[in-house]
Amino acid sequence: MDPLPAELDLLPMAVMVVRDGLVRQVNRACLRLLEADVAQQVLGQSVERFLHPQDADLARQRREESARPEHFGLPMQSTAFRVQTCQGRIRIVLVSSVATVWQGAPAVVINGVDMTHLDELQHQLRESEHNFRRLFEKMQDVYYRTDAQGVVQHVGPGVIRVLGYQPHEIEGRTAESYYPQSADRDAFKAAIMAHGEVSDFPGQMVRRDGRVIDISISSHALYDHNGAFAGVEGIYRDVTQRKNLERELQRLARTDPLTGLSNRRALLELGESLFLASRQRNSPLALLMLDLDHFKSINDRFGHLEGDRALVALAQVLRSELRASDVVGRLGGEEFAMILPDTQPEEAAQVAERIVQQLRRTVLWVRDGDSAPPRALTASIGLANRSAADEHPQQLLERADRALYQAKQAGRDRWVQAPDPRPAAQGADAASATAGPRP
Ligand code: GH3
Ligand code: MG
Ligand code: MG
Repeated sequence: MDPLPAELDLLPMAVMVVRDGLVRQVNRACLRLLEADVAQQVLGQSVERFLHPQDADLARQRREESARPEHFGLPMQSTAFRVQTCQGRIRIVLVSSVATVWQGAPAVVINGVDMTHLDELQHQLRESEHNFRRLFEKMQDVYYRTDAQGVVQHVGPGVIRVLGYQPHEIEGRTAESYYPQSADRDAFKAAIMAHGEVSDFPGQMVRRDGRVIDISISSHALYDHNGAFAGVEGIYRDVTQRKNLERELQRLARTDPLTGLSNRRALLELGESLFLASRQRNSPLALLMLDLDHFKSINDRFGHLEGDRALVALAQVLRSELRASDVVGRLGGEEFAMILPDTQPEEAAQVAERIVQQLRRTVLWVRDGDSAPPRALTASIGLANRSAADEHPQQLLERADRALYQAKQAGRDRWVQAPDPRPAAQGADAASATAGPRP
């Protein structure tokens, strides 16, 4: 047996020379493919020995075909065979052959490329494609892709659940029509153009049934081969439930649970921004601080629950005496504050007076069989107006607090207006407090 030309040993593909159905020569790659330690394990063996039994027929057909005179010298079309190695393992090998004269005698020269790995890859690819499909069909998010003009090219089936439309009803249209606020869409576009991508971008969309939902979008820009903007691809999801919960939590964090008014935190925040706005616009602003009179004794006499009921009744009175643009909140305990924007000192004094009067009419405790006379709520109010000299809302707060103290000192059930803190040049009576009349 002549050895194979040494060059063939350098080839990565397997080469085998077959004569009379027996293996005569092999290169190194062939030994590797057949998992043979030495050439003797292969040489002299019938070719069938290295084939899966079910592929033997196909191999025979191919051999007969290649043996026909008209096929002599012409390579046969490649076919995948299941090859059985010396170790008994099966490999998928892409085989091609040619009937020729090899080293002076007729022979079939066969070459093979191991496709086992490729086949596995294809299998993995198919599986991954299958998994992706399933994920795509089932996912809660809506996948979408638009062209550079914003026309939807493709939208996932999630859109049926999220917007109530079939994908084909949306494809071919711009997304504009599903945004109730065009500002949302513009902000999204601007962010995509500026950063190339957005993550958890908030917005709203309108469903087929007209209901507006909160959405969150994560997307990136697409570019063509020349680097020009070609569209947007991403996902959006319905986050209405989460948003509602967030809104409710935010509301709760700023609300006094007993009276439903703003709590201390919200009140101070709102107060600060209203103070700054009033300074900027040079418009008047009034602050009223109210403290219920002898509330301890009301609690002692009627109980804590009745005390709570009084606080709720007070909140109702305050709300009904104020405008929608005024802010009223509970600073804590039985202490309340009201911020009145665009309100002149005289108007603020009228409001304070109305509250005092209205509370006197709010008789809460009239009970059958109760020997004690009916009791109304009374309160003391300290009133301060923003002065040009005020640099910080705290200054206004301190003046209102001092006025409240004076109202208590003067006998309660009344209001006291703090004087303007500017120097006496503003007028002689600017320095003395104004007080509401006693009944
Ligand atoms: P003054 O006229 O000087 O304001 O007397 P007062 O008794 O109202 O004053 P003080 O501030 O000493 O007492 C406030 C009382 O308010 C003490 C507390 O028992 C009561 N209080 C504070 N928060 C609540 C509440 O949420 N519910 C009830 N029922 N009572 C409260
Ligand atoms: Mg108090
Ligand atoms: Mg009190």
